[in-house]
Amino acid sequence: MSNPGLLLVICGPSGVGKTTITGQVRKILSALFSVSMTTRPRTAADTDGVDYHFVDIPTFQKARDEGKLLEWAEVFGNFYGTPREPVDQAVKDGRVMILEIDVQGAIQVKKLFPAAFSLFVLPPSEDELLRRLRKRQREDEATIQRRFRKAKDEIAMAKACGVYDVFLVNDDLDQAIAEAVRIVREELTKRQAATGA
Ligand code: 5GP
Repeated sequence: MSNPGLLLVICGPSGVGKTTITGQVRKILSALFSVSMTTRPRTAADTDGVDYHFVDIPTFQKARDEGKLLEWAEVFGNFYGTPREPVDQAVKDGRVMILEIDVQGAIQVKKLFPAAFSLFVLPPSEDELLRRLRKRQREDEATIQRRFRKAKDEIAMAKACGVYDVFLVNDDLDQAIAEAVRIVREELTKRQAATGA
C-alpha cells in the first residue's frame, strides 16, 4: 500500500502548550519537523538548526525573494518562514511532516497544499491562558499582556478562517497529547485506505 504522507500544521497561541504537544506527537509518530528560518534572537533554550535556523534580516529576505520559503510571516516584529525544500521532499517521500507555525502561515500552507491537515490548540479558557503565560516567568507583565491580546486575536482568527480541521483543547497535557496522536493516526489510516483502494 502506498504511503500518502501528511503535512501536519500545528498552531496555537503562546503559552497554550503547542510546542510540548508538537514534540511528543513528533516523537510518538516518528514524524519529521520543519525547522523554520527566523530573524528573532536565539534564546538559551534554542538550538540553532534544531529549533530554528537563526539568520539575520538580509539572509531571510534573500531566501524569501529567491522563493526558498513556502510561507512566511511577521510575528511579534520578527520574520519566520518555512523552508520549501524539506517540505517538498517529505511530501514526495510520503512522510509525516509537522509545521509548527502561526495562523497566517497556516492559511498560506492550506492554499498551497489543500490536503494539509491543520490542528489548532486552544486553552481551556482565556483566564487559564493568562495564568499559564504568567507562570512561564519569561516576560514582564506588559509583554505578557501583549501576548495575551495577540492570543485572543489569533484564536478569533483561527475560528473564523476555516482552515483548521480540528480544535484541540489543552486542559490536561497528557490527555491533549494522546488525543492529538489519536487524531493524526485516524487521519493517516483514512488516507491510507483512500490511496490503497
Ligand atoms: P516563537 O518565537 O515563540 O518560537 O514563535 C512565535 C510564533 O511564530 C509562534 O506562533 C510560532 O508557531 C510561529 N512560527 C514559528 N515558525 C514559523 C514559520 O516558519 N512560519 C510562520 N508563519 N510562523 C512561525
